[in-house]
Amino acid sequence: MLGQRIRQARLAADLTLEALGNELGVTKAAIQKYERGSSTPDSSKLLALAKTCGIRTEYFFRQSTVELSGIEFRKNVDFGKRRSEAARIRIAEMAEKRVEILDAFPESPIPDFAVPDGIPERIEALEDIEAMAERVRRAWHLGMNPIADLTAELESFGLLVMAIDVEHPGFSGMTATALAADKSYHVIAVSSRWPGDRQRFTLAHELAHIVLAGRLANGVDEEKACDRFAGAFLAPKEAVIKELGAQRKRLEPLELYRLKHEYGLSMMGWLIRAFQCGVIGEDTRLRTMKAFSRRGWRTREPWDALPAETPRQFEQLVYRALAEDHITETKAAGLLDISRMRFYQERFMEPVDAAAHQ
Ligand SMILES: [Zn+2]
Repeated sequence: MLGQRIRQARLAADLTLEALGNELGVTKAAIQKYERGSSTPDSSKLLALAKTCGIRTEYFFRQSTVELSGIEFRKNVDFGKRRSEAARIRIAEMAEKRVEILDAFPESPIPDFAVPDGIPERIEALEDIEAMAERVRRAWHLGMNPIADLTAELESFGLLVMAIDVEHPGFSGMTATALAADKSYHVIAVSSRWPGDRQRFTLAHELAHIVLAGRLANGVDEEKACDRFAGAFLAPKEAVIKELGAQRKRLEPLELYRLKHEYGLSMMGWLIRAFQCGVIGEDTRLRTMKAFSRRGWRTREPWDALPAETPRQFEQLVYRALAEDHITETKAAGLLDISRMRFYQERFMEPVDAAAHQ
């Protein structure tokens, strides 16, 4: 088991045998032996391994209890196999911790995710998705207002949302099913480095894959359907018409910028929604898109980016489990991946200053 965990830690850190060997001052062959289990690193090497791979040593001795299946990377074109594997292992590790904290409670503190009842069984055309997105919003009591924190909403409905720090621009999100001992969970992972509008659109798009599964008629493109759902979920038709009016010939960039920050949907997303909801015609859509391209806004939208979202449910549940005596302090610190010292500071909300770090 130790060998397998060392291999996983190395892959998760995206290191070659050679690179890890160099960090530890041993040969590539020595690392290979550790991974095959034909030799065992001593405790100082194990510490160095953990440090280099950015994990805690306890990782090496924990049996993996959660399996990720049905893994899908969204548009995986230039992300690469090795990087995908690194992301997979890191997400599996996070999923394991999530499941562990949920299992610590005598009764699960979150509901089992369920697609709402009463949504259409069949989607015959992309336009049907408008009504579908509204039904889902209503079923979840989201009304027609902006969704302030989509991550928190999805977490509260039982999805496991993860934000992982991936530097490579080819990463565009991942979904999987986490299989635990007696339960399974939908996992959606986004990059913590993305602006909020990109994270939210990806989350809503992946939610659409789950909600629309088995409902699309032949000939309805699933990716297009999921994009349509994402837009309609973030900015429902009713809201689009309320904000922009029913018929427009031109849209001002500043309007779109303000709406982006209010609804957490990109300026480009608003332009597309305006077209989909019949507010603007094809000519206005094309003209505005060209203007966006000219100004470089299709690569990077102007002014402030939308702040990124951060999943917070996990940390909250750790503290809740601690308060209700379901877990110990050591366990809590381990799950949060911080030292006991820092954990004490945070638990008792001590001021963080230089002296406190001694
Ligand atoms: Zn998709």
